[in-house]
Amino acid sequence: MGIRHYFRQFKKRTVQNRLTIIISLVIFVLLVGLVNFRLSMRVMSGTRAYVGGEGLWSKAQKEAVFKLVRYTNSGDESDYQEFLKYTEVQLGDKQARLEMDKPRFDRNIVREGFIKGGNHPDDVRDLIFLYRGFRDVSYMRTAVEAWTEGDKEIENLLYVGEQIHELVSTPPMPDNPAIRQARAAELASLVEQVYEIDERLTILEDKFSATLNEGARGIAWTLLWINIGITALLGLLSLVVGVMVSRHLVRLDKLKTDFVSLASHQLRTPLTAINWSSESLLAEKSGKLTQAQKRYIEALASAGQRMANLISDLLRVSSIEMKTYELNVEEVNLRSVLDGVVKDQQKEIKQKKINLDLTVDARVPMVQTDEQILREVLENLLSNSIKYTPEDGRIDIQIQTMRTYALIRVSDTGIGIPKSQQSQIFSKLFRADNAQRHNSAGTGLGLYIAKALVKMLNGNIWFDSVEDKGTNFYVKLPLYSEHYSKRKGSKNG
Ligand code: ADP
Repeated sequence: MGIRHYFRQFKKRTVQNRLTIIISLVIFVLLVGLVNFRLSMRVMSGTRAYVGGEGLWSKAQKEAVFKLVRYTNSGDESDYQEFLKYTEVQLGDKQARLEMDKPRFDRNIVREGFIKGGNHPDDVRDLIFLYRGFRDVSYMRTAVEAWTEGDKEIENLLYVGEQIHELVSTPPMPDNPAIRQARAAELASLVEQVYEIDERLTILEDKFSATLNEGARGIAWTLLWINIGITALLGLLSLVVGVMVSRHLVRLDKLKTDFVSLASHQLRTPLTAINWSSESLLAEKSGKLTQAQKRYIEALASAGQRMANLISDLLRVSSIEMKTYELNVEEVNLRSVLDGVVKDQQKEIKQKKINLDLTVDARVPMVQTDEQILREVLENLLSNSIKYTPEDGRIDIQIQTMRTYALIRVSDTGIGIPKSQQSQIFSKLFRADNAQRHNSAGTGLGLYIAKALVKMLNGNIWFDSVEDKGTNFYVKLPLYSEHYSKRKGSKNG
């Protein structure tokens, strides 16, 4: 079973399941990163503390040697005491080391030892951590060996010191030159030994700090690579999450569009029956209606009509979003399209006693475009103007042609669009507050559709409006079709 097997198993899981796995992985890698970071800090801080401790150790050792040699000349007991005092630094560190070597060690003893060795109390934790965790690891092992050897040399130094002390503190026999000479020779030999020990110690001290420094550099590189690895892994996992989520969202969006499309198609059939029946009743095909019956059925017919409009808007939105539109470009007579659109809405115009004016440039040429799409856009603009213009208002429609495009303007003296909501007017399902108060019927889909359709025609749509004064909608349309993008699928919905 290789990685492929696991990958296949992984792909069989649900999206939520997969996301949970990946997010758990991200959290795990983050935790590893954090632990690695904490570990790095402690290793670096422990290494620094050992390098510092070694400095104190060497300095004290040099001082001890100095005091001991001085004592051989001065015979002053206080020099010897100082020698002993300086060696306490090494003895303290040794106490800590020996205690840490025990399987079960006493922290207090270690602590006491390190503090005697001049180390800062706050560093003790990391000193212990590095020793216990890495005592047997490459560079730390070499450093500990040097340290152990150094302690042996300190024992030698103390032993030689003791001999010197004994010799110096015993009063010489006053008149025996032979003994005095022998004593001087012994002292000289002891001092010689002190210097030899000092030399060996110097070598060990250098070895200790060089090893630690080299180790610290090695560790820094290793940790850096681990950190790079973790960061790269995190980046990769985040990328996978991002791709998965976006694919899932696209799939969900498609499902939603498919669902809306299917549901709308299914609603259409019963609605057609309802509308057809109410129209037949209103036409009194099955007998005369009373005034009350007429009112009820009219309400039914108008609700049915609104619902049919909503369904056709929903289907339009679906087909726009599924990109199942195909342009059918032909030579179109702008003027006659507009006449048709106005004619279709003549009833509403009359009902609201709206004064409509249509001005068309005499030179308006034929336009290469998709007639049905253009008609739909203009129907929407005109029906909005009628809907949002109070009775006795005015609507002006103008067509101007330039060299390569036509500009259609639909103006009204209606309720206008509040400034603060103008930027949302082409958004799906958006209706301005004043429009909702003025006319409850409306889906907020018309302009969203119109904008998408105009874009298909490579045109442009925009408006300007002043609340309570009126609105101008503009559609700019290319006269020639060479720039149209081809769309797949069939025109449906
Ligand atoms: P609706 O079904 O609400 O008319 P549309 O998408 O056609 O939806 O229009 C969106 C909104 O734009 C409307 O609700 C209204 O607020 C505003 N609007 C559109 N045309 C006009 C207009 N001629 N006058 C005032 N407001 C308009």
